[in-house]
Formats: sequence, structure tokens, C-alpha cells
Amino acid sequence: MTNIEGKVVIVMGASSGIGEATTKKLAQEGAKLVIAARRDDRLKALVESIPNAEISYAVADVTNKEEVQAVVDLAMEKYGRVDVLYNNAGIMPTAPLSVTRFDEWRQMLDINIMGVLNGIAAVLPIMKKQQSGQIIATDSIAGHVVYPGSAVYCGTKFAVRAIMEGLRQEERENNIRSTIISPGLVDTELYTTINEPENREWVKNNAKIEGLGLKSSDIADAVAYAISTHETVAVSEIMIRPTKQV
Ligand code: NDP
Repeated sequence: MTNIEGKVVIVMGASSGIGEATTKKLAQEGAKLVIAARRDDRLKALVESIPNAEISYAVADVTNKEEVQAVVDLAMEKYGRVDVLYNNAGIMPTAPLSVTRFDEWRQMLDINIMGVLNGIAAVLPIMKKQQSGQIIATDSIAGHVVYPGSAVYCGTKFAVRAIMEGLRQEERENNIRSTIISPGLVDTELYTTINEPENREWVKNNAKIEGLGLKSSDIADAVAYAISTHETVAVSEIMIRPTKQV
């Protein structure tokens, strides 16, 4: 794919699922990568599974702005620029509001929303100086539609969409592109973050059914497409549903 080779790309939330698949895809296309997440062993194994690629990893929790800054600093040390930040880290501990899981609500707001903001804050000064860059966020169909039993998760994804659209409007004159990737159900480890048994089983089982669940590589292809377009083209949102999803 043209226009990816040589680009410096940071992937947050790269240790499994969509982030892992996107890392593999972009490495194949010749990007220079810095990847991050909390699980050291998974990042190490991923890097080792991609020979002959320019790729480094750092352990970082996206809720910690110093750790996010350190990931961006690593990219600057190694390559002297940042072309793309992919804010992909997220969790989905869904449950009906009446269950009042305060800790999970706080965690979702911190990771899904503050994590994205911490990434934006760390790269914006660099991209403004470069007068170019692209910030991508994994949002969701749940950023468009509210599902019962998922109100808080949907709220975080609605918020991310608003933030990314605001970013697009504010930074377009600096040639900074904002891209929202909104998948439907994808077969990943995300269900392991759900503690409500009924919700967990539903996501775990349905994601594996062809036509009801997408593969992580389907989303990686969309991210690669958004990056591959010419700098004058802002792919501001891609929605990808499994064919049989309502
Ligand atoms: P996974 O659970 O496989 O991946 C989530 C990634 O986020 C992991 O790499 C995880 O790494 C990372 N992560 C979670 N919390 C943190 C944190 N505090 N700091 C740093 N990294 C963190 O699920 P998916 O691949 O499905 O999820 C990726 C994104 O896609 C999420 O934003 C999710 O909301 C979104 N999405 C998923 C859909 C689906 O059906 N699967 C549908 C629509 C959107 P680690 O645990 O090592 O930190």
C-alpha cells in the first residue's frame, strides 16, 4: 500500500486484538513502529514475531500521561518525528446501570476517554511543529448507537467521537488529520474485560460467528487504508459492521 512505507506510527493498545493485527499489517507495509500497552510479555512476543521490521515497544498505561509521553519520546528519539498516533487502547466492562459498578465506570472513563486525550496531548505539539500528522482512534458502532446494558461504554465511545471531530476541526489548518475507526463486533480478547456474566458470554460467543463478528485483520486493513491516503485527504471516519449485524 502506498504512503505507509517509512511513516513513523505509534500504536497504543498493541498487545492483542485490533492493535496487534494493525501492528502486523503496518510492519508488513514498511512503517516504523513504536507500540505500547501494559502487558510486557505480549508486546515482546509480538515484536519478536515480526522479523526484519523497524519496531520497538514500551510498557505504558494510557491513563498515565507521563507513561504515554515516554512512548512518544521514544519514537522521537528513534526516528525524530511522529507521523501517526493510533489511540486504540480500550476496555468494555459493560453492565446495566442498576448494577452500579463505580470502579468499572471510572476505569472506562479513564482508559477509553482520558487515554485518548493523553495521547493527543503528547503528540499535538510535535505534529503542529511538523505541520503534518494523523491521529486515529478506535471508536465503535457503540459511539453511534446506545445498547441497553452498555450505557457507560457507549458514553465513552460517543465522547471519543466528539473529541476526534473537535480535533479535526481545530487542527485541519495545521494539516493534522483526525480519523475515527468505528467497528461493530470484532473477535478479540475484549470480552475478558466484561464481568457481567450474560454480557460476557454474549460477546464471547457471537464474535466468533461468521457474519456476526469481524476479524481484527478487517479493522487493521481499514486503519492501513486511512493512513495510506494522500495527506490532502482526511478519512475522518470509517464504520465497519459485520454483514449480519443490525
Ligand atoms: P483487546 O482486549 O484484544 O485489546 C485491547 C488493547 O488495549 C490491549 O492491547 C490492551 O493491552 C490495551 N489496553 C487496555 N487498557 C489499557 C491501558 N490502561 N493502557 C494501555 N493499554 C491498555 O480488544 P480489542 O482489540 O477489541 O480492543 C481495541 C479497541 O477496539 C478498544 O478501544 C475497543 O473499545 C475497540 N472496539 C472493539 C470492538 C470489539 O468488538 N472487539 C468493537 C468496537 C470497538 P494491555 O491489557 O496489555 O494493556
